[in-house]
Amino acid sequence: MHAEFLASLARAVGERHVLTGEADTAPYYIDWRRQYRARALAVVRPADTAQVAEVVRLAAAAGVAIVPQGGNTGLSGGSVPTGARPEIVLSLARLNRIREIDPLNDTITVEAGCVLADVQRAAREAGRYFPLSLAAEGSCHIGGNLSTNAGGVNVLRYGNAREQVLGLEVVLADGRVWNGLRALRKDNTGYDLKQLFIGAEGTLGVITAAVLRLHPQPAATATAWVALDSPARAVELLARLRARLGERVNAFELIGRACLEAVLAHAREARDPLARAHPWYVLTEVADADAFEALAARLEAALGEAAEAGVVRDAAIAHSAQQAAALWRLRETIPEAQFANVKHDVSVPVSRVPALIERAGRAIEARFPGQPIYCFGHVGDGNLHYNVGDATLVAHRPEVNRVVYDAVAALGGSISAEHGLGQLKRDEIRRHKDPLELELMQALKRALDPRGLMNPGKVL
Ligand code: FAD
Ligand code: ZN
Repeated sequence: MHAEFLASLARAVGERHVLTGEADTAPYYIDWRRQYRARALAVVRPADTAQVAEVVRLAAAAGVAIVPQGGNTGLSGGSVPTGARPEIVLSLARLNRIREIDPLNDTITVEAGCVLADVQRAAREAGRYFPLSLAAEGSCHIGGNLSTNAGGVNVLRYGNAREQVLGLEVVLADGRVWNGLRALRKDNTGYDLKQLFIGAEGTLGVITAAVLRLHPQPAATATAWVALDSPARAVELLARLRARLGERVNAFELIGRACLEAVLAHAREARDPLARAHPWYVLTEVADADAFEALAARLEAALGEAAEAGVVRDAAIAHSAQQAAALWRLRETIPEAQFANVKHDVSVPVSRVPALIERAGRAIEARFPGQPIYCFGHVGDGNLHYNVGDATLVAHRPEVNRVVYDAVAALGGSISAEHGLGQLKRDEIRRHKDPLELELMQALKRALDPRGLMNPGKVL
């Protein structure tokens, strides 16, 4: 019954770019964690903004819903169909051009389907730095990063994806194109509309391009792997490093011993950077216009002072790019080294991170004794990836979630710090968000997508 609709899509984007075959569509219909799988009518791959607009108009006319998809690395089931109604997956992969780099304005204008690592590379080749960085950067798209307001390892210094954006181009739910590609650092001319689409997970419109901020390329980075007795020591160390090194602290990642052990078991080439085992680690990176030696000496001095004060147990500073990369590989391998368990992506004020780990840990042990806890993440942003148990616990997911989310709520935190709500947390968020806030979100949704065609069944 959708034959005429599919034929109109083929006329709009070319027959080759409307995928309906089982093998061609399968990767688009399942999410990265393999938790959500559903079919759509087709996967449509437009080549440019005009084609995206045409596809959206055709879908709106046919009453077919649209699931925007970037690199499909999202962790909340937002990028795949729900199967609840006729849908198409709208892949942005072919919108992968870098439209402009303006080094003197420190901006880059990119299409939504650019892979994050390619944006970083283009900035580097222009002698600039694009700071957004996460383990999925080789396959996630900038459009997906903006739609999820991605975080990653450099938020501490440079902010979330949201903070990198000066302008956006968006295809609205009725197929009109909003050209908001302004490259201005100052623009107080009413509501900041672009911010609505950032973090909206495709529920308000399709992002097709963005103007992003660039930064000076740091001359040197120094990386250290630090052992500590407790998360409280990690929070203390962060304050000390910031006092001594200021804005030079790029990244500050907490890693529990169980995570390191999982990585050592999973990756043959991985090595424990220190001679003895310690309960907690921090991987920190500082960057500056200094020469490496001067920067490493500053970092070493700050760590030395912290060790004298009893905050740090041991530390290893990387003395080559290879050593630094090996330390980062340990951190980046954690997600795949503990794949099947019950995951949480939560935040609390930085000062309350130790209380959260303590409180959630006690509650989990009381309810599910002996289950391992893989706790790691961006402690400098108050954001923990707090993963519980082995595959046997997955059947108890709602109960495990409840235990962790209650601890988060008691400490004034959020149940989704980075990965968004998608399908995964769409229902749970109702327990945590003020009804008035939800009402305002519904009102915005109705204003921008009155027929509910943009990524239905996600977020709200
Ligand atoms: P997708 O998964 O394709 O889509 C994500 C959401 O955005 C969906 O709701 C989709 O409908 C919507 N969307 C995508 N493109 C558009 C568009 N152009 N217009 C409108 N809506 C759109 N996330 C972090 O924040 N920090 C991390 O450190 C981090 N680490 C990760 C590590 C690994 C190994 C993996 C697999 C994921 C990680 N993630 C992390 C999650 C994920 O990579 C991010 O959410 C990323 O921003 C998603 O980008 P994507 O292109 O894959 O988007
Ligand atoms: Zn993360």
